[in-house]
Amino acid sequence: MRKRVYQFTGLALIIVIIATGCSGMQAGRMAPDSGKTKNVILIIGDGMGPEQVGLLLSYARQAPHTVIKDRKTAFDRMMNDGGVMGISMTYPSGVLVTDSAASGTQLATGQFAGSEMIGADKDGNPVETILEKTIKTGKSTGLVSDTRLTHATPAAFAAHQPHRSMENEIAVDMLNAGPDVMLSGGLRYWIPQEANDKDSAVYKELAQMTQGSVKIKSKREDSRNLLKEAQEKGYALAFNRAQMEAAEGRLLGLFAYSAMPDGITVTHTLNSPERTIPTLKEMSAKALQVLSKNEKGFFLMIEAGMIDWAAHNNDTGLMLHEMMRLNETVDYVLDWVKNREDTLVIVTADHTTGGFGISYNAKDLPDGRNLSGTLFQGREFKPGYNFGNPDVLDKIYNQQLSYGDIFYGRFDSLPKEQQTPAMLAKIVNEYTEFDISEDQAARVLATEENPFFVEGHSSLGNKLVPKMGPTGAFFVYQTDDNRQNLLAREVAADQMVVWNTGTHTATPVLVFAKGSPGAMAPFGDVLHHTQLSRYAIEVITNR
Ligand code: MG
Ligand code: ZN
Repeated sequence: MRKRVYQFTGLALIIVIIATGCSGMQAGRMAPDSGKTKNVILIIGDGMGPEQVGLLLSYARQAPHTVIKDRKTAFDRMMNDGGVMGISMTYPSGVLVTDSAASGTQLATGQFAGSEMIGADKDGNPVETILEKTIKTGKSTGLVSDTRLTHATPAAFAAHQPHRSMENEIAVDMLNAGPDVMLSGGLRYWIPQEANDKDSAVYKELAQMTQGSVKIKSKREDSRNLLKEAQEKGYALAFNRAQMEAAEGRLLGLFAYSAMPDGITVTHTLNSPERTIPTLKEMSAKALQVLSKNEKGFFLMIEAGMIDWAAHNNDTGLMLHEMMRLNETVDYVLDWVKNREDTLVIVTADHTTGGFGISYNAKDLPDGRNLSGTLFQGREFKPGYNFGNPDVLDKIYNQQLSYGDIFYGRFDSLPKEQQTPAMLAKIVNEYTEFDISEDQAARVLATEENPFFVEGHSSLGNKLVPKMGPTGAFFVYQTDDNRQNLLAREVAADQMVVWNTGTHTATPVLVFAKGSPGAMAPFGDVLHHTQLSRYAIEVITNR
């Protein structure tokens, strides 16, 4: 009798093991149907923590005048269509919080990286990335970003350098790695330093090629013309929408001197016939068109990179527009993969930024009112706090200028004597729906600008000075001496939000996956990004 019970237990144990084995890839084993998957599309929202996804969902579901169709975000669509969701830790080797370079590297290589490294392991050795591995299988590859091509996130997939700031070297690495499609901003690292002389032959040649669409100015420290080298490697070049649309085959598109336009600018210029710069969605569509010609399959990384930049500046309105840009891009990708069994789509973030939250407070307490419910007969409904009127979400969306544009674009371009608190209040009150007083404006201005505020982390990044810290350190974010963060603090209670920091946090990020059941199953888990990457590598290399 005793023996029979023992045998039965053993049988149950075996069954459990088999079931676990089928639920995902464990130690290199793949679920039976994941071998059908030939394409992987990895979409990274830089800085898109659960807080940022939450803002988009609140806006979609609760804003009285939301512009999101049927109040359904791309995240809703992924799950409604049978996708899976997980969470993932992002920390790099030996520290608590990641930057985009280390996190991008971990997403690209499946191995732990050191802070600020590009395409390297924790000891600083170059590691083959998912993109490089995919190329070896004969498949096509692509990188798309709305920041600039040599910025940390895209760089981590096709370059190997000790520091993210080495964008001269990163551009060369990327060209050598040779993704079939590269679409982003950052022309300045691809043209020789001689281009800075407007009388030079190379300047004139570039002016003709770019048709006035991109400012021609180099940040290279040598005479290499990487555009020429790209052409020799068979790339078509594009500097505006029309050139991009017309291009065929391998394609290098650089649509801005540094960063591409911010989310609010994109929203406002979307239907303008004068718009020459493609959107993230349009670049992604072109990449899919080119890459899907390879019957063996492809790997495509798409980055919505400015969610992070808006969050660093605690610019809630801009951040919502950046989330909209990710949303419309994911929507497009979901349309593209509809009815396809051969493509795995993963949407995640490299980390979360800002410690953002929609939050209740005690400002503007609502009036009491009568309710029909029996518990409230003879008693007013009057909560003790302001829990937030959903109208505020429409007001956040209605912001007309990024905080970067308010300060660097408008305020700083005025003659010095006009740069007064009254003028700042006038500009803020004209372009946002969260008015500030002259006193509040004075508080914002009574600071010194953060001396380490580095270019590239603002919508007008290339206008910012000075540059790196003395050790080549990336930047120091402090929310108490930066005008954008201070403005955010002044309007936070009216916006019903809180911002805890101007840097990143270690909060785990969300992972959404949609593809064949076997391919997507492992992503519905509590992960680390190195694991997520290894699963993606297994799928794309079909090993
Ligand atoms: Mg990035
Ligand atoms: Zn960041």
